[in-house]
Amino acid sequence: MSATPKAVGRLIDELCRLPGIGPKTASRLTFFLLRAPAEQALSLSEALRQVKERTVLCSICFNIAESNPCSICSAPERDGGQICVVEEPLDVVAIERTHLYHGLYHVLHGAISPVEGIGPEELKIRELLNRVKNGGVREVLLATNPNLEGEATAMYIARLLQPLKVRVTRLARGLPVGGDLEYADAITLSRALQGRQEM
Ligand SMILES: [Zn+2]
Repeated sequence: MSATPKAVGRLIDELCRLPGIGPKTASRLTFFLLRAPAEQALSLSEALRQVKERTVLCSICFNIAESNPCSICSAPERDGGQICVVEEPLDVVAIERTHLYHGLYHVLHGAISPVEGIGPEELKIRELLNRVKNGGVREVLLATNPNLEGEATAMYIARLLQPLKVRVTRLARGLPVGGDLEYADAITLSRALQGRQEM
């Protein structure tokens, strides 16, 4: 018989499944929530429910959105001739913050990583090629992270795009190597966007 009520153990187990949260942090969060006012804990559970019920993946760019197609894909003022390829939805947020880019996006949902067993099939690469093959795309800007996996992914995609006669560019150097796009400050990211280079 355990001294911990079942519900408490369940919450600890669920929190443990989140990235970056070990058993110790999970216990700390659980006991914080146990002591917190009921409204705070219920507000968290409601937020969790809504994030699953009220979001969808855009079937064009695969960004997380409130509607399908998303607000960017369906905006008439965006330039459909440009596609910016990023690893994660948060990278879209980072690039939108610069207010410099007015094309569309394509979210890969990861990067090629042999170490983690992530191959090209696990990413939305085929879907990207189909978008380009459908025509109307002038430029594909590869904005994957400036680390080993991001570079390998950009090279891989650039090779596949080569026969499709589309301009392929890569964010300029200047982003901290090994870093994540989502943590880059807007000025650094703006410079990298403006100085993008042909691949
Ligand atoms: Zn979209």
